[in-house]
Amino acid sequence: MRRIDGHTAVFGIIGNPIGHTLSPVIHNTISEAMGINAVYVPFAANGNLSSMVNGLYSLGVTGVNVTVPYKTEIIPYLSGIDPLAKEIGAVNTLKYTENGYYGYNTDILGLKRELEDEGVSLKGRDIVLLGAGGAARAVAFLCASSSPASITIVNRTLSKAFDICKDIEVYASGQEMPSGDFRVNAVALEDINTLRCTDYIVFQCTNIGLSPDDDACVLDDQDFYDRVSVGIDLIYKPAVTKFMKNVTDAGSKAYNGLKMLIYQAVSAYEIWNDLRVNDAVAGDLEALLTQTEKDSVG
Ligand code: NAP
Repeated sequence: MRRIDGHTAVFGIIGNPIGHTLSPVIHNTISEAMGINAVYVPFAANGNLSSMVNGLYSLGVTGVNVTVPYKTEIIPYLSGIDPLAKEIGAVNTLKYTENGYYGYNTDILGLKRELEDEGVSLKGRDIVLLGAGGAARAVAFLCASSSPASITIVNRTLSKAFDICKDIEVYASGQEMPSGDFRVNAVALEDINTLRCTDYIVFQCTNIGLSPDDDACVLDDQDFYDRVSVGIDLIYKPAVTKFMKNVTDAGSKAYNGLKMLIYQAVSAYEIWNDLRVNDAVAGDLEALLTQTEKDSVG
């Protein structure tokens, strides 16, 4: 068992609700594997962000993760923010600096590393996002920063898809795209049959299909799945979602969001501790969390 002493660094996560979080398991496992004297704990937030941030900072909490519902609300209380996190308008990782906490968005770094791991390149590709919430917004910025041919955001509430499209257009105008005619479109879920592209990479960014609603999927249109090249579901519980089944039944590869979750934590850990976490540790985490999920079901 690890010993906590006068030198133990404290890390944690603030959010509400917080009871379901896997972050303490991930971070404490990394510390154990890397032999680092640190502990990571959940902080159930009570809503007064200013006093929470000041309290954590005054007590010298070295690194903090931020989850729902504070990822955007917390930004005014930071001393600085990473440029891509600023564009996205959401942070999930705070690093202690001598001027205050500096914010990052490691959800995006996590998804980027998952895609690299699975050999999925977004460059020059047509991309479809299902959903237009906080996660979809971050994924849209990751995609836009990866030189795709087009991004189409499909959502039940069309206005939310349009809002992200507008911000992506502004962002993309300052980036170098591979082809001059980079396109970003919003499509209402009910108008999915108007989607023109084929052979696209699709990110499932809604919360439909999240356990215990394992058999639900935001879209069950065979023609849509016949045109998918690769499908990535941000959901990791269940391990195989209905969306993923739809993709694999149509003959394409599908991945869940577990590696994204693990790598967002690994990226935060690396930012906080100025080190590189061994690839083997990330692999062990995947096995551990898959087993944890199986145990919680069984
Ligand atoms: P959110 O901001 O609440 O957005 C929810 C999205 O789902 C919206 O686009 C919403 O559409 C859509 N939706 C909800 N109910 C629907 C319904 N009945 N029919 C059609 N669409 C519906 O949530 P979020 O923060 O973006 O998170 C989305 C998912 O990503 C969650 O399952 C979360 O667990 C997952 N996630 C995973 C990771 C990871 O590390 N793997 C990280 C972040 C998030 P409307 O706009 O029309 O309401």
